[in-house]
Amino acid sequence: MCRKCSCDRMWELSNGRLECWSCGFQMSVTAGTPLHGTRKPLRLWFRAIFEMVTHKGGVSAKDLQRILGFSSYETAWTWLHKLRRVTVGNRRQRLIGEVQLDDAYIGGPAGSTGRPRPGGNKALVFVAVERDGRARIEHAPDLTATSMGSFVERNLSQETHITTDGYITYGKTTLAGRPHQKVPQNKLPAGALDPLQRAHYIISLVKRMWLGTYHGAIRQKHLQGYLDEFEFRYNRRKTVGVGRLAARLLQHLGSAARITYTDIISTCRCPRFETT
Ligand SMILES: [Zn+2]
Repeated sequence: MCRKCSCDRMWELSNGRLECWSCGFQMSVTAGTPLHGTRKPLRLWFRAIFEMVTHKGGVSAKDLQRILGFSSYETAWTWLHKLRRVTVGNRRQRLIGEVQLDDAYIGGPAGSTGRPRPGGNKALVFVAVERDGRARIEHAPDLTATSMGSFVERNLSQETHITTDGYITYGKTTLAGRPHQKVPQNKLPAGALDPLQRAHYIISLVKRMWLGTYHGAIRQKHLQGYLDEFEFRYNRRKTVGVGRLAARLLQHLGSAARITYTDIISTCRCPRFETT
């Protein structure tokens, strides 16, 4: 659409720019999108998108810098964060049916488990996943009923049957009356199937991404971007052909607003700042 008069009829000029049919305003095809003002060829952006959607664990800025031949690490880093910001579309449906709900601490030194130590780089995440279906994963501020309740409300429809472990946070109020089965993990008989198997699987994949692709070097401030990117690939794991994933990301990119480097470094996208 024309940025001046919102007319949706544009001519393409021989220099690649667009001219508005009604007011004559000329603009670049990337104007007003996250690619606004980019001085690199779009072909390189397409390659970056391809790399992001092809690799199961994503691509690090260091690797992207090498692949695209950039002299600047910051450019590769900024590109990936711009792409991460558009992985989540605007009109997401909440999860339905049987949903496994869990929380976990991720990050920190390899092999470390359990609660975080002060000053460490461990982050709390909430995970919800449909049986054999879509997942939602968010960086969470704490394990209170308020934070969990907010996650549940935003991500789970009222018609879900929820399975959780025995933790006290998973109460009636938190889940707002949704049907709920509590399975204390320490009381499972030996050899029993893990009732939270899929949630645990997702948590292990995220941990692998954090330590594998990014070598533990994800700052908590930016964690939600990485989780969104993970979710994008995970929820499309059955899509045949990476071209379709790339096309979907391009579609989001074309309809998203401009994002600057300052936006990326100055704002944290973790839900805690929306809910408290
Ligand atoms: Zn116009």
